[in-house]
Amino acid sequence: MSERLYRTDAIILRRSDFGEADRLLTVFTPERGKLRLLAKGVRKTTSRKAGHVELFMLTDMLVAQGHTWDIISQAEIVEPYRDLRDDLERTGHAYYLAELADRFTEEHDPNRPLFELLAVTLAHLSHSPDPFIVLRYFELHLLSLTGYQPQLYFCVACNETLEPVENYFHFASGGTLCARHGQARPNAEPIPLPVLKVLRFLQTEPWEKLARLQLNANTRQQVESLLLRYITFVLERQLKSVDFLRKLKRDT
Ligand SMILES: [Zn+2]
Repeated sequence: MSERLYRTDAIILRRSDFGEADRLLTVFTPERGKLRLLAKGVRKTTSRKAGHVELFMLTDMLVAQGHTWDIISQAEIVEPYRDLRDDLERTGHAYYLAELADRFTEEHDPNRPLFELLAVTLAHLSHSPDPFIVLRYFELHLLSLTGYQPQLYFCVACNETLEPVENYFHFASGGTLCARHGQARPNAEPIPLPVLKVLRFLQTEPWEKLARLQLNANTRQQVESLLLRYITFVLERQLKSVDFLRKLKRDT
């Protein structure tokens, strides 16, 4: 194999039309992290590659290094995850996973565990009757694998193990606070014990145990809301620091 060619598995996160008949794909790979690749001619009906580079598929690719973008020279489906494109609700959830994976990563920054998490989550999502657990499991593990694992066992101010009472969660501190420190911290919000327990369970238990988890509607809603707001907080802060670095570069 020429050194201008490489072979890789890739999960397709995003795609946009490019030129007359091409597509630009954002993919996630085990060894090269996130890449943007050009898929030439895939919008032509005669394209042999077209059916192998659909959204959310896991595809085995042969890629040629190019000047601006590397170019997909061959593509063959490994896992189609067909149900994710055939069912509107599942498609929506798959878009959400792909968007999170995209937003939490930089190009050319390998993260094999995250690739594996993404692949296994897409598989669970395509046949699990309850997407709630699948999505929350992905969110918590994505946070851990990208350096934002929330602390859920100790108070981030005093390091004491949390008592089984109503404690607090503080976004900017990245985790829980004991009742004493939580009450004193502006913007810390109470976290009900059942919510904390579910988050811990999702963070530490293997998938097989989680799939059997029964939750009431109220706890589900609170877990989902807290995770979504924490993720939004992390992403906004990340964006601000990128803006800040850009500004710094401009000014010097
Ligand atoms: Zn404390």
